[in-house]
Amino acid sequence: MSHALFDNIYVEKNAASDAETVRILERLACKEPEYIGHYKDVFDMKKVGASDGRSLILAHNPGKHLYEGAPVCQSFGNEHFYYSPSVMNCIYDCEYCFLKGMYPGRDICIFTDIKETFAELEELEKQFPVYVCASYNTDLNALESITGFASEWCRMAYEHENISVELRTKCSRTDIYENLPVSSRVIFAFTLSPDAVADRFEKGTPGLEARIEAVNAALKAGFPVRLCFDPMIYFREWERSYTEMIEKVTASVNLKDVKDISIGSFRISDQYLKNMRKKYPDSEVIQYPYVCEGGYYQYPEKVRTRMEDHIRKLLSDKCPEVPIYDWK
Ligand code: SF4
Repeated sequence: MSHALFDNIYVEKNAASDAETVRILERLACKEPEYIGHYKDVFDMKKVGASDGRSLILAHNPGKHLYEGAPVCQSFGNEHFYYSPSVMNCIYDCEYCFLKGMYPGRDICIFTDIKETFAELEELEKQFPVYVCASYNTDLNALESITGFASEWCRMAYEHENISVELRTKCSRTDIYENLPVSSRVIFAFTLSPDAVADRFEKGTPGLEARIEAVNAALKAGFPVRLCFDPMIYFREWERSYTEMIEKVTASVNLKDVKDISIGSFRISDQYLKNMRKKYPDSEVIQYPYVCEGGYYQYPEKVRTRMEDHIRKLLSDKCPEVPIYDWK
């Protein structure tokens, strides 16, 4: 059965009776999904570029529910830093996204056994405070009307004082924050990009102004907010575009209310970039001559230092008291 967002909706037979599965199908008004034996029967089959279509798969996660964070991800001073792959793939289509090198196609797979993730997390938090990036392989805010997972993660952190959650997003929804339990342990992290970057490289995402409105909605509801100028993308007009963006952000958001800021130029694991280069021979951002250091492709040092120093200076001049993190 198709849906406005998806060509087909598939359900793994063993996930069919999960409360989450039933809820998601109801939200999608899908009465007759196609049943399959394993999510990989669909998810692993398509190749990017073969079709613009996208299917949704509801399944159980046969692998790990929590992974330790990769070195190129920022841990923001948290010693025990994990991420959760409760949803694989994203409704947005950023050209540079590592998911394009990680997954074979555009299909989205939602693991409906999220309670297993929470059970694992409860075991971990008995040992130490845990910091989880819940929106690592997707944008949960953008999928909230389908999954409700952003709300579930918020409740989880609200009820467990040793669990902190980061929800990274480019979503412009302003209506979700006021209905969530507010906690200092739930950080909404907004990726902000100049419109020139959003238009060229972040297909399907809202523009800067709309993202800023969402930032202010989360702040108004009382959540800690992180502003992420990461990944910065190099292009001919980068300096002017990023400067104008910082002017707009600082004119519209009271930076003193922000928990912290993250900055970082684009970097990606060598294997993901190699996969992406084969799939997208004409992409400017994927085919850029990055340098490989320690298994990660990144801009040459001169370029990345110039970009990161520029944005760091603009931000610290405007608001020296807000902590700024970078990924190194
Ligand atoms: S919003 Fe994030 S997860 Fe989604 S496609 Fe863009 S970079 Fe990837």
